[in-house]
Amino acid sequence: MDNETARNIRGNLTADCSKCFGLCCTALTIVASSDFPINKQAGTPCMNLQSDYSCQIHSQLRDKGFKGCTVFDCLGAGQVVSQVTFNGESWRENPDIGKKMFRVFPIMEQIHEIIAYVAEALSYDIPIDLADKLGKQLTELQALTKLDADNLLSLDLVMYRFSSNELLTLASDFVRRKTINKMPGVRKIKEFDHQRANWMGKKLKGKDLRATDFRGAYLIAADMRNTDLRAVDFIGADLRDVNFCGADLSTGMFLTQMQINSAKGNVKTTLPSHIHRPSHWIN
Ligand code: SF4
Repeated sequence: MDNETARNIRGNLTADCSKCFGLCCTALTIVASSDFPINKQAGTPCMNLQSDYSCQIHSQLRDKGFKGCTVFDCLGAGQVVSQVTFNGESWRENPDIGKKMFRVFPIMEQIHEIIAYVAEALSYDIPIDLADKLGKQLTELQALTKLDADNLLSLDLVMYRFSSNELLTLASDFVRRKTINKMPGVRKIKEFDHQRANWMGKKLKGKDLRATDFRGAYLIAADMRNTDLRAVDFIGADLRDVNFCGADLSTGMFLTQMQINSAKGNVKTTLPSHIHRPSHWIN
């Protein structure tokens, strides 16, 4: 698979709410917090969900305290569960399928997330043998999205996460090592390892953090204004309220729309092509 095709697969993993039966607004539990003003049980429709599955307060979500809804991104899992797994049959028309549909949704969401990471790794210039392995993994993962509900519910997703993660780490190390080799001085990749680091609130304004490994790091509310974050691995990092104003994330790796939606930024933040600039960054 060529880099362009992989980039397109990654870029096409976007939610189309017009083809979804309001699954994120129904299937998931909501707990009252700074992100939500209400409590809601999984399987119960949100009080703001309308009969056509649109949100009654869509344009005022942040003003009304539903910040969490503006952060969430299902990567297109909602429309696949609605239109492919359940053939366009809604839980409203057929309440008998509701329970199963709501259990399948978070599973499809995870499959789409792994597909997004694997497709992104394939879009990099990496050794051919690694690209072959990632290509096979991607084909297998894409086939999972076509399984029926019962087979999806019995999937061993941990196994897919584990095998994908091994390949993603190899791709990340390769890309970061290439970047490090172009940097002045002789530096070892180990110096860039900040996996699972607790850098909450850390002041990093204007720093050159290229090629850092921030896998699973806690970066909540860190000040990363005007920071160089090219070739940084952000997989699983907690980026809530990180200030990315003016930062260069153009080649940041494994960033998700949800991570970016939960952070702060502005029109000067440079983002990877598959990430949209959140509207609350502009307003
Ligand atoms: S507030 Fe709107 S977007 Fe958020 S869960 Fe309710 S219906 Fe969905």
